[in-house]
Amino acid sequence: EAAKSSNFLRQIIEHDLEKGTYATRRWAGTPGDAAHHAAGQPDPAKIRTRFPPEPNGYLHVGHAKSICINFGLARDYGGVCHLRFDDTNPEKEDTEYVNSIIDAVKWLGFDWNGAPGAAPYQASDYFDFMYRAAEYLIEAGHAYVDEQTADEMRTNRGDFGKPGVDSPFRTRTPAENLARFREMRDGKLADGAAVLRAKIDMASPNINMRDPAIYRIRRATHHNTGDKWCIYPMYTYAHPIEDALEQITHSLCTLEFEDQRPFYDWLLERLTEGGLLASPPPRQYEFARLNLTYVITSKRKLAQLVNENKVNGWDDPRMPTIVGLRRRGYTPAAIQTFAERIGVTKSDSWIDYSTLEGCLREDLELKAHRGMAVLNPVKLVLTNWDEVMGAGHLEPCSLPALPHAPHGASSGAAPEGTESPLRHFTIGKEVWIEREDFEEVPPKGYKRLFPGNKVRLKGGYVIECTGCNKDADGTITEVLATVVPDTKSGTPGADSVKVKAAITWVGVADGVNAEVRMYDRLFLDAHPDAGGKDFIESLNPNSLKVVTAIVEPSLANAKPDNKFQFERHGYFVADRIDHKAEKPVFNLAVGLKDSWGK
Ligand code: ATP
Ligand code: MG
Ligand code: MG
Repeated sequence: EAAKSSNFLRQIIEHDLEKGTYATRRWAGTPGDAAHHAAGQPDPAKIRTRFPPEPNGYLHVGHAKSICINFGLARDYGGVCHLRFDDTNPEKEDTEYVNSIIDAVKWLGFDWNGAPGAAPYQASDYFDFMYRAAEYLIEAGHAYVDEQTADEMRTNRGDFGKPGVDSPFRTRTPAENLARFREMRDGKLADGAAVLRAKIDMASPNINMRDPAIYRIRRATHHNTGDKWCIYPMYTYAHPIEDALEQITHSLCTLEFEDQRPFYDWLLERLTEGGLLASPPPRQYEFARLNLTYVITSKRKLAQLVNENKVNGWDDPRMPTIVGLRRRGYTPAAIQTFAERIGVTKSDSWIDYSTLEGCLREDLELKAHRGMAVLNPVKLVLTNWDEVMGAGHLEPCSLPALPHAPHGASSGAAPEGTESPLRHFTIGKEVWIEREDFEEVPPKGYKRLFPGNKVRLKGGYVIECTGCNKDADGTITEVLATVVPDTKSGTPGADSVKVKAAITWVGVADGVNAEVRMYDRLFLDAHPDAGGKDFIESLNPNSLKVVTAIVEPSLANAKPDNKFQFERHGYFVADRIDHKAEKPVFNLAVGLKDSWGK
């Protein structure tokens, strides 16, 4: 569990809990109104936050930050966090995305709405209430139907330093507005022919307060409400109402919504005055969004990568989507630690990608079973094996799967269940080693195999290199060595011969072929979409290299999604989709050391 450091949101929440800001919250609305009870009876002792994605795409690492903040704060302060689909935009939304979002939040380890297994909230369930609230605003003189063209509206809205111009429709009476609004609802007007606007101030320095549109006409089938409506609320109108109906206390969003806060407050104040909502209303607070180097988080651009086949789908292990991170080998714990570590601030900044990787490494270090895998194999022949060990002999060897855990049955002091399991494998006349572990003419300081040098085959024997065989092109086809008898790891003679290096290896007799997908960063540019650059141009052409590796037999027993440390190479995960017992597939999750700065 990561240490929790204070931040401005925690301070606000602690202050509100201490002062009892929401302890006096009371309904002013009509009892029995289903929408009013969306979140059950108010509990003044609790804070309520919410995570409100629009179901128009897959969640990414930026959303993960928002999820960890909202669900994390609710958990830490004994409150509740709502998962709510902000589904007020029928054309772009789809149940495929609804399901993927539910899976992502669950996988990250959070329950919503105060009850495991509860149905998520959906904004579209409040359409009736939103409509009634709009009629109330009209009757109270706070809204009007505008029938200017879209161009006129844009021009008359003005600009920074240039006040807007009142619409000629602004002076309609409430009765006229109400009749017209009902015609909008009843399908008497064409799409785009009119909008309902809040009546605030066309000269406000905040352009969002210049009579924002709150309802528009759109003949579109909604995934939840079907064809019931041909008018839909605008996001800026719907969102505060959703928060209020669900009795949210702290509505946390990213900084780009700061300019919307005055409208959020204006709207909830009007509706509270009118007795439609409980008081005090929720408050909005903004925090900085996550910007991660080498990563793109725009849903539109991520969709482009998928649609143009630059990656293999939304869950490609190079994608910053939650499904992509999961398939890459990321764990919920690593992502939660990451969210905690980057903290919550009020100003935008860039987080280095290595911070995310460091969190995964930390989580896997103590949990991931070790195994040996040879990624670029060359055969090593122990030329005296048959003579000293017996022809065809295979000698059983073992190593702890978790070297940092107290290991072996011999360590009786370890609490039950904490002993490291052992991995079993065999050594024989022929083994696979990494090609880079042999040099015919060793560079200065080289400690691995070269003629005349001794090394240990990790978990096996000390061997002495005698030379190599080559093909006609000069490519090394076999490395030759002799085994030094009685030096097996874990036996009394193990230390009788001193060596400067131990190398990884896999037996030819029991090694298993595996497809290993070596992933690298997807972009070569740390800020691929900054300053109007075409992010497609900075795609890394070598972001995926597939090799056939040879892995020790314990790795061949992996189940999809199991994580391992391939000794010296990094952390790998058995691919969730493609890994099969008869055809193992592993993905590189993260290297052992941070190599990004180099
Ligand atoms: P769109 O690009 O379609 O507007 P969005 O990225 O804003 O989508 P939403 O589904 O509206 O995605 O986001 C749900 C929540 O996640 C919002 O509260 C939003 O502020 C938050 N969020 C989105 N991107 C980030 C990010 N990079 N860092 C932190 N929070 C984010
Ligand atoms: Mg959005
Ligand atoms: Mg966005």
